[in-house]
Amino acid sequence: MTSLSPALKQATPVVVDHALGSWIYGTDGRDYLDFTTGIGVTSTGHCHPKVVAAAREQVGKIIHAQYTTVMHTPLLELTEKLGEVLPSGLDSVFYATSGSEAVEASIRLARMATGRPNIVVFQGGFHGRTVAAASMTTAGTRFSAGFAPLMAGVHMSAFPYAYRYGWDEDAAVAFALQELDYLLQTRTAPNDTAAFLIEPALGDGGYLPTPPAFMEGLRERADTHGIQLIFDEVQAGVGRTGRFWGHQYSSATPDILITAKGIASGFPISAIAASTETMSKAWPGSQGGTYGGNAVAAAAGVATLGVVEEEGLVENSRIRGEQLQGGLEAIQGRFPVIGDVRGRGLMQGIEFTGEDGTPDGATAAAVQQATVDQGLLTLTCGPAGNVIRLIPALVVTAEEISMGLERFEAAVGAVVG
Ligand code: PMP
Repeated sequence: MTSLSPALKQATPVVVDHALGSWIYGTDGRDYLDFTTGIGVTSTGHCHPKVVAAAREQVGKIIHAQYTTVMHTPLLELTEKLGEVLPSGLDSVFYATSGSEAVEASIRLARMATGRPNIVVFQGGFHGRTVAAASMTTAGTRFSAGFAPLMAGVHMSAFPYAYRYGWDEDAAVAFALQELDYLLQTRTAPNDTAAFLIEPALGDGGYLPTPPAFMEGLRERADTHGIQLIFDEVQAGVGRTGRFWGHQYSSATPDILITAKGIASGFPISAIAASTETMSKAWPGSQGGTYGGNAVAAAAGVATLGVVEEEGLVENSRIRGEQLQGGLEAIQGRFPVIGDVRGRGLMQGIEFTGEDGTPDGATAAAVQQATVDQGLLTLTCGPAGNVIRLIPALVVTAEEISMGLERFEAAVGAVVG
């Protein structure tokens, strides 16, 4: 009998029958409160009626209007809609299918725009699993071990992980910026450096908001040296953090912005945005792909952005995020095994540590499994797997957050007593 590859590691034993809003209904007859949203993808909740209707309608018109062959209206509409939310000046968009492809497209663009080879990434960043994207991923060796050689020209600098260093945020930022300056003096000269690539909040690397002063320090250095600043908003974008873009907690804006996941509520589509001037440095035909900018996904994207706006989901993310964080902090007070609670909006991380502050991946893994028993789906992240991340749908209600908190606390209690 044929079976699925063991290379796929499933975080829960759940087999989905159907799903709606914040809920997944399993073939086991159980209802699960979904605080994973397919790793931050089903932004408007599962099967939002407007997204379903838009996709259904588009399926009857054209499914695959290959965009290097013929253009289609959903992509033109999505581009117009995106224009309403993109940072000013980023007025040119290229579409792909997955986050990894968009990350790679951003690197191609940065190299063509600057004529320089090297990319600087920051420790703990996750940028995807294709080989080039994995070469820039430092969220854990499991994403690259065993299939080297990776792409050349990638250099890693420090991330201001204040909690882990036991420093305050200012000290962590000063240290990380100093390390970056040192890297530019010792390993990759500014004239060889095409881009800084960073997430506005580390995702798979541990659900750590990037300090605004660090983003601003990168912007300053990028301006000084003519380096492209790329913000990977694949996980943090589209309202996830309580602002439309995760980087909007700082005053820094990117030269290239990458988006995917939440933008189409589960349909595979991704995009990079830059100024027309920058984009025009990429020669025609240098970007593309068979499935990029798929018509059904683009129609779902237009509907998603409409729902985010009409239902005030960015604001809901902020308010429900505060409720979630407040509840988690109260739980932290009752369980010393929780070392840190952090996040912005509906992107919250709970770090499990031993008494001496060392990462405790075993407890986090046991709690994650226990949440499933409680009817709450969660995921772990971080290099040591010791952070549980909560990623509810942006439509989550106050009652669902309360229920999630109760179930989470019951799971922690079941593991640590
Ligand atoms: N960048 C970030 C910040 C991500 O979180 C992810 C996916 N977790 C990716 C890139 C890669 O996206 P995909 O899995 O769609 O290739």
